[in-house]
Amino acid sequence: MDRRSFLKASVAGLGLIAGLGGKARPADRTAGERNPEAELKLGSQEGRLPGGTLGEKVENLVKYGGIGLEIGSGGLPGRIPEIRAAIRGTGVKISAICAADGPYIIPDEAERGRKIAGAKALLSAAGELGATGVIMVPAFNGAGNQLTGLPARDLLLRVLAELGAHAVKVGGRMLIEPLNRDEAFFLRQLADAASICRDANSPGIAMMGDLYHMAIEETSDTGAFISAGGYLHHVHLASRTRILPGQDDRDFKDAFRGLKRIGYRDYCSLECGCRGDPAVEIPKSFRFLEKQWKEADDRA
Ligand code: MG
Repeated sequence: MDRRSFLKASVAGLGLIAGLGGKARPADRTAGERNPEAELKLGSQEGRLPGGTLGEKVENLVKYGGIGLEIGSGGLPGRIPEIRAAIRGTGVKISAICAADGPYIIPDEAERGRKIAGAKALLSAAGELGATGVIMVPAFNGAGNQLTGLPARDLLLRVLAELGAHAVKVGGRMLIEPLNRDEAFFLRQLADAASICRDANSPGIAMMGDLYHMAIEETSDTGAFISAGGYLHHVHLASRTRILPGQDDRDFKDAFRGLKRIGYRDYCSLECGCRGDPAVEIPKSFRFLEKQWKEADDRA
């Protein structure tokens, strides 16, 4: 319905609005109420942690106060026994698998099929490992012959319908990740990702936020996380210049207010560089984040 006919039909406006915008949002936790159950669960990508083996990296993560390990997608599902052995008895859980990246919005069906098959294999691995999900960037700048605009969005939804159904079957979950304009024009803001999750309408399709990209694209970290609401199941931690939180002027309280407001209980995971010795600097960064979490007043 265009704007003119909508105005003409304004007598029946309320009914029309209900019909157009009444899509259920089962994952909505955005009512603006303070949720006392939000929790800061810190973790890191495996590559960020010092240690010669995965076991040593997990030991260090525990020593620093982290509980979520994000693993790379290389070598999966072959690495599942190694990963299970490394976290056994430590209390550490697998936060996410990074990543089943695109491009997915490409007209070439065979190439798209290969991407989807790869993502399904990672979803199955995520299910076996009990991971929060598999990170996915639908499209990077400059990645060949990609669609744009509405055709791209429609195709992505078709891809997500297939991945969502597989995710539900194997107990995994896709986590679509907005980037910043230097890396991807297609998906840059959390509210946009949330609307794609809403339209995908599958418990197997969710999203994440990366505080480095968010510093470039979002006007409000709190607002972005509130828009993401219950669709948000992972967060990447990095400073404004993509080093450890606390190593530059990036403040995290605005973001943490948003996470508290939506009752976020999944992991916040380091994806960043490090200035100095990680064995010294990561614990300092975790203490900085814990302090910022305490200071983030979600009633403000
Ligand atoms: Mg990221």
